[in-house]
Amino acid sequence: MAVKNEVKMNLYSVSENVAIARVTSAAFAAQAEFTVNEIEDIKVAISEAISNAIIHGYRSSMGTIEFVMTLYEDWVEFIITDFGHGIEDISLARQPSFSTDPERMGLGFVFMESFMDELHVESAVNQGTTVRMIKRCEQKSVH
Ligand code: ATP
Ligand code: MG
Repeated sequence: MAVKNEVKMNLYSVSENVAIARVTSAAFAAQAEFTVNEIEDIKVAISEAISNAIIHGYRSSMGTIEFVMTLYEDWVEFIITDFGHGIEDISLARQPSFSTDPERMGLGFVFMESFMDELHVESAVNQGTTVRMIKRCEQKSVH
């Protein structure tokens, strides 16, 4: 499938960069035929993934988050990679209300899954985590 556009960013793991990734994802998605609501969905999913990389991936340390956005004919793909602590049990981590932090709701993955069309999580302890999400754009039929 032909790539129509691609942007790659390296984000330092500070909370200010959640907003930067959020607006950048909206600007990138605006090239495709998404509705305003779908762009809002993308912004939420991206915020959750980047926040997780900062909060859980790097915890109190600092590191780099790779953020790749790719536009295809019928969908947009977002890949968020950190090189932090990693996830021990991915299927448990993806359960609604599961969190390793009692102060948190444990809903980030649930939002990513419900707001995007595909969510793939790969992780290795002490190596890091990659979250790949796809949002399809409706083919607008011409009458
Ligand atoms: P919320 O997103 O509601 O604030 P949360 O971040 O704990 O709470 P999820 O985003 O669903 O909930 O993540 C579930 C769990 O998966 C986290 O508590 C954490 O243990 C683990 N996790 C998620 N992303 C990462 C990551 N990038 N690196 C390490 N662990 C992660
Ligand atoms: Mg989270």
